This record gives sequence, C-alpha cells and structure tokens, in this order.
Amino acid sequence: MELSGNLLTPRRKTRQIHVGDVAVGGDARVSVQSMTTTKTADVDGTLAQIYALAAAGADIVRCTCNEEAAAEGLAQIVPRSPVPIVADIHFHHKMALAALDAGVQGLRLNPGNLRKEAEIKTVASEAKDRGVPIRIGVNAGSLDKELFERHGGATPEALVESAQRELAYFAEVGFDDVKISVKASSVALMIAAYRLASETFDHPLHLGVTEAGPPPAGLLKGSAGIGTLLAEGIGDTIRYSLTADPVEEAKAGRQLLESLGLRERKGLDLIACPSCGRAQVDVIAVAKAAQEALEDRNLPIQVAVMGCVVNGPGEARGADIGIAAGKHKGHLFIRGEIVRVVPEDEMVEALVAEAEKLVAEGVEARLAAADKTAAAEAEADRMALLDEGGDDPNAAIVRIEKIRRRTGETEKPRK
Ligand code: SF4
Repeated sequence: MELSGNLLTPRRKTRQIHVGDVAVGGDARVSVQSMTTTKTADVDGTLAQIYALAAAGADIVRCTCNEEAAAEGLAQIVPRSPVPIVADIHFHHKMALAALDAGVQGLRLNPGNLRKEAEIKTVASEAKDRGVPIRIGVNAGSLDKELFERHGGATPEALVESAQRELAYFAEVGFDDVKISVKASSVALMIAAYRLASETFDHPLHLGVTEAGPPPAGLLKGSAGIGTLLAEGIGDTIRYSLTADPVEEAKAGRQLLESLGLRERKGLDLIACPSCGRAQVDVIAVAKAAQEALEDRNLPIQVAVMGCVVNGPGEARGADIGIAAGKHKGHLFIRGEIVRVVPEDEMVEALVAEAEKLVAEGVEARLAAADKTAAAEAEADRMALLDEGGDDPNAAIVRIEKIRRRTGETEKPRK
C-alpha cells in the first residue's frame, strides 16, 4: 500500500534516540506506545498484556515501577517482552535506579513529581552509563507548583519550561538521550504546548492527551490532539490514554497512523456508506456483521459496505472490495467492478470469502475470475431501482400525496 503521509506537512526534523531496538525521532516511523494496567509484580499477567498490546500495534510498552516488587517484576518481564519496556517513575528516584538495574530500555520521569535536583542528576547519570534514554514526561495536572504560580496556571510556556529545567539538570551530568512530552487533558492546551515544544527543542516528542477518559469521547480527544499535531509534522511517538483495556489504546494509535498514511495498513479498514433513502438493506447491521466476520482475519485491505447498487460501487470504487445491496441481492465488487451477484442473505459470507481470495491471489487474478454475467445483472438491478425510485426512491412523494388526498390537505394552502 502506498503511504500518503507525504501529503501532510513534512515531519519536523528531530534528533534520533533508541528505546531498545525502536528508533524514535529523526526519520524513524512514528511509533505507538501504550501502558500496562496490571500490577508489574504480576509477571505473567503483565507479560500477557504486553503481548496483546504488541499484537495490536504497540511498538513500546510502559509499566509502572512504583515499588520494589514492581522492579523485581521488571527484571523478569524485560527479557521475555516482545517490545522494549519503559519504566514509569513518579515520586521515588530509587525506583528509577531499580528499574535500570532490572534492565529496562527506557525511563519516564515526571518532573512535577520527582523534584530534587540531586536525585534527578543521579538517575540521569546512571541512565547515561547504561545508554538508556529518558522521557521527560511533563503533565499539566502535576506541574511543579512554582511554575504553575509564576505562569498563572499550566500554560504552554509553563509546561515547556518544566521540560527545559529538567534538560538543564541532565546537561550538568552530560546526559541528553531524551524525548519529551508536554501532555494535558485539554486538547487545545496540549496542541499549543506541543507546538511550542516543537519550536523549542529538537528532541523527539512523545504525543498524548492525558486522562482522555473512556471511549468514544476519549478516542475523539486523543485523535483531535494527536492527529492535529501529526498533520502539522509534529510528533515522533504517540500514546492514547484511554480509560479502557489498553489494547484499545494500541489499536487506536495504529489506526490513527494508518488513517494518516503514516504507517502501512496492518489490518482491515472497513468503510460503509452513511445510508440514505435509497438504501436497500440495513447498512448498520450489514457493516457490523462484516466487521465481526473480517476483523480477526488481519486482511490488510479496505472493504466497503454500501446500501444500494445505484451509487455504491461507483462511490466506493477506491475500496479494494465491497458489497452493495439491491433487489434482494448483494452485488460484490472489486475496485468498483462487479464480480459476482449473490442472494442478499449470503452477501456477508460471500464478501468474506472473496476478501480472502483477493488477499491471497491479488486484484488482477480476482477480476479475471469474475462472473461474466454479474456486471450486466447488476446494471439491470441498478436501472430497475432507478426506474422504481427515480428522484423519490422510497416513494415518499407519492405517499404524501395519498395522505393529502385522504385528509383533504391538497385543498388547503401549504404552511
Ligand atoms: S450508497 Fe446508496 S444507500 Fe448508501 S448513501 Fe449512497 S445512495 Fe445512499
């Protein structure tokens, strides 16, 4: 699949760091992150979640390291994890040192919660010795009190200054293997803060709308904030913060990058018409059935479910494959060309079977294998529907006239 990311504002050049074997920044592809919700001391439970996150599209996973048992868990998790592990550190610098001992590939420090200069420098020094990068994870909700008061709130300038201050501490011990985040739960604040951070730093930026909440609102907030910035060329790695199974975060991150053309499609992209008066089938139900039947098959194609054969195949000719309803039939099409007509109650089944063949054999082969009578049959159905419906596909005008005749409304002036 051709990526369309080059239609967006070119990505701003940042320096490159490595979180384990994942490059972040520079010309590396934008990576997806998520965070486990298990107790890190629960090694098997955490690893199961990490594997699920990696399968859903996460390139890097963060685990909390809030107690000694968590650090010990990390020592067992890191060598068995399919993706690099970042330890999340808030109040105790000793937990950062313990996580480094456990072998993590990255640290996240919250400058609002870990404030002592000497401790911050100790951690940076140890990270430097081990070649482990640190994310300076500024968060509007836990901004340093002094910065909050001096700036009159958690402003973009205050968030960026917090990161600058941390960078200055790091610089004193010669450490600069850093990425930066300036998250907020307000989408507008987060966008403004990252724009300023992008002008201020050349370090890679980790994007996120923090505490976005449960889907769908959380997904919308994350997409509005992260998507806007990526479209402006800002951002090197992303994380959705959802109040949901973290697998949903990883999926959302991957799907956002796919939809922006910044990552090759890994899975299904199901499109469906919004339905209208011409619909010959319950589009929502058919789209849901198709989604359920196709989503676990990991077919990297775009599939269209269209409510009528009058407009469907033409409107969705950009899709790899699709189905359009009409005259109690399903009209199966590949890149807009009708290849088969099946009974309506078999349309989802036929769509799934053809989608698998399409992925296995390719577009040309499946077009060559098309039922030669299908196009003519579909055209006949299309013309019949047009004749029946014309500009009044559901006969609404005829019905209204009937009602008016019955009630005598035609005699009265229209309101
Ligand atoms: S494909 Fe047909 S049913 Fe769907 S929105 Fe277009 S005209 Fe309406």
